[in-house]
Amino acid sequence: MNQIVGHETILALLERTALRSTPAHSYLFTGSEGIGKKLVALRFIRQLNCPEGANDPQGTCSVCRRITGSNHPDVQIVRPERGSIRIEQARGIHHFFKFPPSEGRWRICLIDDAHLLNRSAQNALLKTMEEPPASRILFLVTSKPYLLLPTVRSRCRRIRFGALSNQSVAKVLEEIKQVSPDESFILASMAGGSVQEALRLDNPTFRDMRKRLIDALSRGGVIGFGEIMGLSAAIAADLDTARDAIRISMSWLRDLLSVRCLDEESRVINQDSLSVLKDLSERFSPRQLLAAYNELVATLSLIESEINVNRNLATDVMFLRLTRLLRNPDPKGDDVFGELIP
Ligand SMILES: [Zn+2]
Repeated sequence: MNQIVGHETILALLERTALRSTPAHSYLFTGSEGIGKKLVALRFIRQLNCPEGANDPQGTCSVCRRITGSNHPDVQIVRPERGSIRIEQARGIHHFFKFPPSEGRWRICLIDDAHLLNRSAQNALLKTMEEPPASRILFLVTSKPYLLLPTVRSRCRRIRFGALSNQSVAKVLEEIKQVSPDESFILASMAGGSVQEALRLDNPTFRDMRKRLIDALSRGGVIGFGEIMGLSAAIAADLDTARDAIRISMSWLRDLLSVRCLDEESRVINQDSLSVLKDLSERFSPRQLLAAYNELVATLSLIESEINVNRNLATDVMFLRLTRLLRNPDPKGDDVFGELIP
């Protein structure tokens, strides 16, 4: 996926900087995974070194094409090797920056997943950053800037990338994967503003799991013990599957709350199940739905934590509690918000 989606303000700011040729010595590009930070950085790097300037907005000249193809002598991309970026790689950047640009105006190094720079590599990099040679630019691209030393962060100009709108992500799915508009909206909503995440979810396994879960959730709490155990075992197979399944269930409960409390159909994610959601929402009190939602949040944070947790047991307990919470009508009915919100 080489298409930049959204981030108009950042693109305009960087384009102005490139045209004036006034970049900072070091940049820190931050924001969620899969929203296009590196694509934007590469576009900026092309604009900085493009001999055509504003006349080559698509980056099609030979210089731009060589930068895109990682085949330009003044542009180096550093990536983690075996899960980290080591001191040797940081020293390599120092060496690379010893020489002035050979062809372009700027000699540039981009470090992808910069949070994987280990501590000694960051310290080595600091030496380069403390006395930045002229005509050199360093880019650090990361979704986890808090893992970088404060001294590294403070030497960079930070560019914060916001999440993309669901509509923008959906549009990408429709354009490049020919996903139908209804389905692309669901996948984009589940992906939380990340194109990469939406593309990951666009597969038959995710669709099958979603169908199976929604079928079970559509029956409220009316679901047999054997089926619960089968469902739980299937979703606990690996962390990604468990996480996806819990998010699907969360979206379902959020939808029920939207219909039940806010009467806002446009906020419903699972638009393909709108009529079922409307029928079901009357059956539950907001308190039941919130309690069930909290169960999912707790299980998600448990399985995502560093603790060596038994995932299957956690999802067993989650489904059993959900079933118990949703099986019978809430005796206290709608008298909920008085208790929850003092
Ligand atoms: Zn160009």
